[in-house]
Amino acid sequence: MASRSTATCDAIPRLKVLRTRAALREALGEAARPVGLVPTMGWLHDGHRELIRRARVDSATTVVTLFVNPRQFNEAADYTKYPRSEARDLAICEDEGVDIVFMPDVEEVYPPGFDTTVSVGAVANPLEGTARPGHFDGVATVVAILFSLVGAERAYFGQKDAQQVMVIRQMARDLAIGTDVVACPTVREPDGLALSSRNVHLSPEQRRAAPVLRRALLAARAAWDAGERSATALRQTMLGVLAAEPLADVEYVSVADGRTLEELGDVDGPALASLAVRFGTTRLIDNEPLE
Ligand code: AMP
Repeated sequence: MASRSTATCDAIPRLKVLRTRAALREALGEAARPVGLVPTMGWLHDGHRELIRRARVDSATTVVTLFVNPRQFNEAADYTKYPRSEARDLAICEDEGVDIVFMPDVEEVYPPGFDTTVSVGAVANPLEGTARPGHFDGVATVVAILFSLVGAERAYFGQKDAQQVMVIRQMARDLAIGTDVVACPTVREPDGLALSSRNVHLSPEQRRAAPVLRRALLAARAAWDAGERSATALRQTMLGVLAAEPLADVEYVSVADGRTLEELGDVDGPALASLAVRFGTTRLIDNEPLE
């Protein structure tokens, strides 16, 4: 009998899949604390899995949100073709022992009459902020809503989107939201390519070329390790590596202050080397802290 009841217990799915703000609030009312939040746009990969695992270690209740946020896409085509699969994502969440998945419709996040934008200042302006106008307003707005709805003790983000982490930290601090932002290391393919939901759009040829981002960053890192402190020289090092890859269409390379993201002349403190490169219509980003 004992083993039968254990089997029955195991068969009960623990994962709650919720689609409305009201259902989420109700589930969280009775959830064990602390709560860990992992906000995602779905099409989960091993990078997301690592965030979930980290959240589970720290938390009594792990909440994953799956929401392709239209407000953070500055190109309509990028939003339309963003990969989506509820079944696939839910299977991964189940596999990772997630407690609650929140997967709302657009109208549930932005109900009729919604008319607020959260706009972070200086740290949101350079790099991705310049390359993708409105992107960080969309990110800060949706993350503020999710932070407010979930009220988690901690939320987990990937260092792959280093500027995003800085923007969200600034937003949470300024709006007095008591959720700690935890940055987790970038998860990579064996050849160095950072995992990204957008990698699925790369052709086999582009996929073979894409690790050039990592090689460029590692070349800058090696030069910095060897004592190079001219940011211009470090940018040139990255551009030199990228130039050798004909499929790589460089949008920017940057060596910026690690706290403000202002472009540097000389690297004399914590810095961030970062880049954005297009392969056809697929845009990839990556970064390497220099500290
Ligand atoms: P996304 O679904 O692309 O919006 O990403 C959701 C979260 O996963 C963000 O905090 C990302 O920074 C993080 N993330 C995406 N790719 C990776 C990766 N390769 N390694 C670690 N975290 C990642």
